[in-house]
Amino acid sequence: MSIERRPSVQVRIGEVRVGGAAPIVVQSMTNTDTADVAATTRQVQALARAGSELVRLTVNTAEAAAAVAPIRARLESLGVHVPLIGDFHFNGHKLLREHPGCAEALAKYRINPGNVGRGSKRDPQFAQMIEIACRYQKPVRIGVNWGSLDPELLTRLMDENSASAQPKDAQEVMREAVVQSALTSAARAEELGLPADRIILSAKVSGVQDLIAIYRDLAQRCRYPLHLGLTEAGMGSKGIVASTAGMAVLLQEGIGDTIRVSLTPEPDGDRSQEVIVAQEILQTMGLRAFTPQVAACPGCGRTTSTFFQELAQRIQAHLRQSMPKWRSEYEGVEQMRVAVMGCVVNGPGESKHANIGISLPGTGERPVAPVYEDGEKTVTLKGERIAEEFQDLVEQYVARRYPRRVSP
Ligand code: SF4
Repeated sequence: MSIERRPSVQVRIGEVRVGGAAPIVVQSMTNTDTADVAATTRQVQALARAGSELVRLTVNTAEAAAAVAPIRARLESLGVHVPLIGDFHFNGHKLLREHPGCAEALAKYRINPGNVGRGSKRDPQFAQMIEIACRYQKPVRIGVNWGSLDPELLTRLMDENSASAQPKDAQEVMREAVVQSALTSAARAEELGLPADRIILSAKVSGVQDLIAIYRDLAQRCRYPLHLGLTEAGMGSKGIVASTAGMAVLLQEGIGDTIRVSLTPEPDGDRSQEVIVAQEILQTMGLRAFTPQVAACPGCGRTTSTFFQELAQRIQAHLRQSMPKWRSEYEGVEQMRVAVMGCVVNGPGESKHANIGISLPGTGERPVAPVYEDGEKTVTLKGERIAEEFQDLVEQYVARRYPRRVSP
C-alpha cells in the first residue's frame, strides 16, 4: 500500500529538496561546541556518513558564528557536502548581521519565533533575520517549540478563550497557540519578502498526542513542508518509542517532509544513533530504503546458545559498514533483505522470503545451517566458521545480484 503524501511546496536546501514529491529527508543535530571547529567537523562528518542528509548546528555565540565558514570549508575538503543549518535563538539577528561568512556558509536558518526577542524587540529582530535570509537567498525553518512558546501570544489566546461563551480546555488553547505561532510567523516572513518556497515549518512538543493533533492541524492549514520531530523525546528505548509512536501515525497520514529523532545520547554515546533510528522508522514503514534489513527471530527455548544473536548483530553491523561503499557501487542494494534465524521452526520459511537467509541449528538439531538465496537452498554451512562463511556469501550475493552503477 503506498502512502499518499500531503501536497506541499518544495524547498531547496543546498542540493537537498524537501517537500513536494521529494523523498522524506533525514536530519540530525550536532552536540559539540560549534566554536570547536575540529570536533564539530568530525561530528558532522560522522552524522553525514551515517546517512544524515541535513545537519543542524547551534549558533549561539560570536565564536560559534565565526566557526561556521571554517567548518564548511573543512567539510568540503573532506568531500562532505551535507548542507548545514544554523540554529538561532535570542541573538540570531545580530550573529547573522555581524558574521556574513556564517550567513553565507549556512544552507538554512532555523528561527524559533518564541526566542527572537521580547516585547518591542521581537518584530524588528525577526524582520532582520528574514531580510538576511532574503539577501543570501536562504530558506528558513520557522521552528516553534512549546518549551519556548511566544508568551504574549499564549496569554492573548488564553484571555480570549476565558472570555468566550464556550471556553476550550487549556491544552487545546496551547495547541492552537503553537499552530498560530508557526503560521503567523510564516505569513509575516512572506510579507517581508521571503518566498513561500523558502519556508519550512515545525511545531515540536514532547507529548505524542499533542504532536499528532498539532501536525494534523498544521497540515490542513498550510502548504509549507513540515519538519517532524518530538522534542525532548528522552533517552534510549523511551526516546525511540515515543518518537516512533508519534511520527509513525503522522507519516502514515502522509504528513512530514523531513524528520529528526531527538534522542538524548548516553554519556559518550554515539550521536549517529539518532540518524539510524530515523532511517529505520522510514524504512520499516516502507517510505524509503537506506540499508539492507536483517530479519532475525527473537530466540526461545529451542536455542540455548547466543550464537545466532551474535551472528544477527554481526551481519547487521557488517551491512551498515559496507553500505557507503556498496551504495556507490551497486544499484538497489539498500532494498536487500537478510534473514538470520535460530532454528528449523521458522528458519527455512523466513529465509526463503529473504534475498539471502541462514537457518541456524536449534537445540537437538543437526549442527548444520542451510543457506537460502532467492528462495532456493544453495549451500549448507557447518563447523566453526559459519559466521565468516555466511558473511562471504552475502558479499558474493551483492556482487552477483545488484547491477554495478555506471560512473557518470
Ligand atoms: S525460529 Fe526457532 S529459535 Fe527462533 S523463535 Fe522461532 S522457534 Fe525459537
